[in-house]
Amino acid sequence: MAEHPPMIALDGVDLIYVTDRGAQMALKDVSLRVASEEFVTLVGRSGSGKSTILSLIAGLLEPTRGTVRLAGAAVRGPSPRVGYMLQQDTLLPWRTILGNVLYGIELRRRVTPEDVERARALLEEVGLAGVEKKRPHELSGGQRQRVALVRTLMTGADVLLLDEPFSALDYTTRLKLQNLILAVMRRYRKTVLLVTHDIAEAIALSDRIYVLGDRPGRIRAHFPVPDDLARKMPLERRHHPAFQATFQSVWQALDAEEGDA
Ligand code: ADP
Ligand code: MG
Repeated sequence: MAEHPPMIALDGVDLIYVTDRGAQMALKDVSLRVASEEFVTLVGRSGSGKSTILSLIAGLLEPTRGTVRLAGAAVRGPSPRVGYMLQQDTLLPWRTILGNVLYGIELRRRVTPEDVERARALLEEVGLAGVEKKRPHELSGGQRQRVALVRTLMTGADVLLLDEPFSALDYTTRLKLQNLILAVMRRYRKTVLLVTHDIAEAIALSDRIYVLGDRPGRIRAHFPVPDDLARKMPLERRHHPAFQATFQSVWQALDAEEGDA
């Protein structure tokens, strides 16, 4: 039997931004793969092109060269299969939490009692029972990101792009949310591409890590997270003896960049 195509595949992708100040090559010859139900992280410094890669997969940008495919089909624009979660939650301040969670469905069709039931169940699952009638400003940053997670899950997308979703949170909130996100992604069998500049976060969450170099952005190295780490939850991974060695490898690949500057 033929192998399934990877859920996400970039091959030889260049991306040039053209502005009134000229052209800038943001990505150069980027190739990467994410298999179905895999959790992959792109680590790179600010400006290395991480968000640009997610925009290509989300169909918001077209590559200047190369191909971007979803489950074997060329990306031609936004797809309902792809969900996006950002660093700053993008909750609508005037809507209730339930209203925010149901917003994506409302844009497409009439909301059913089953939708409301599912939204409540998901909110409860992420520890937010009872907040349905509140407004976003009444919640903490970590709670708002959990609402954003539920909203993303409600869309039914099976490919989730997470753009530094933890970076605005304080340390302990971030660690707890990492555990929750990995548990939820596994439970609902999502395919995930996370981008971050935080090496520890990448190791704590992913099955594999790509290191992105900058100016122009290109894949510099690739690390599978060792099996005995990848089997564990994020908080446990940080205490595992294999964590430091993996951290050193990724750090060196990222740091090698400095020498090029
Ligand atoms: P990262 O997410 O890793 O911080 P980005 O993908 O946002 O990096 O940006 C990569 C490079 O492309 C940066 O140099 C940035 O200034 C440039 N860039 C990003 N978006 C645009 C845009 N819309 N127009 C022009 N240049 C852009
Ligand atoms: Mg970015």
